[in-house]
Amino acid sequence: MVTGDNHRFRGMRKRLVEEIRNKGIKDASILEAIGKIPRHLFLDNAFAEWAYKDVAFSIDAEQTISQPYTVAFQTELLDIKNGEKVMEIGTGSGYQAAVLAELGSKVYSIERHEILFKKSTLLLKKLGYYSVLTFHGDGYLGLSRHAPFDKILITAAAPEIPGTLIDQLKIGGYLVVPYGAGETQKMLRILKCEEGRLEKETFGNFRFVPMLKGIGKKT
Ligand code: SAH
Repeated sequence: MVTGDNHRFRGMRKRLVEEIRNKGIKDASILEAIGKIPRHLFLDNAFAEWAYKDVAFSIDAEQTISQPYTVAFQTELLDIKNGEKVMEIGTGSGYQAAVLAELGSKVYSIERHEILFKKSTLLLKKLGYYSVLTFHGDGYLGLSRHAPFDKILITAAAPEIPGTLIDQLKIGGYLVVPYGAGETQKMLRILKCEEGRLEKETFGNFRFVPMLKGIGKKT
């Protein structure tokens, strides 16, 4: 039993799962993960009521926790298999990392804002997500020490596809990224083929906070 969870929140989660299913998410294990994870703990206490609406919401450092549907959509594109190594760029609240962990992957998640890094690290530990490793750093650089990864997920809008991250992806692996420098981005899934050839598929428009270079200022 998770601290701070209760019958009411569980009921709200059930309805959220139904809403996301109706929007087209089919993967049962992703729906199960969303039904299980206490998303209200990833928001500030005062906003717990917002946790089970299918909307993005503000967190610290002027960032956002992604909309649950978007989390599910990106996760579905990754096609996670048990035991895979997944690198996430943009830990934010840590919620997406928790979803990936529920699917049995080993998660390496990078966040450029120290306050978000610290909060998410504590919360993920408290909730028992020991298969998530968090890093404070610049996601453009990836994690060469831990590469290669089976999958890479970028949860901020990337104006370019970072070559360093493609280098850290296994042949046969996917990188999922909201791509574009404008107000909205196109969701891309990039498959790394033999000899480093890339195959790209596009999946509709989304809206993310930007992927920025360097480490965030202390707030
Ligand atoms: N996955 C998060 C959503 C976070 S929003 C969640 O589930 O809550 C995107 C996050 O990417 C923000 O926290 C932002 O600070 C972070 N970010 C942006 N550019 C980055 C970079 N270069 N390296 C690491 N994190 C970055």
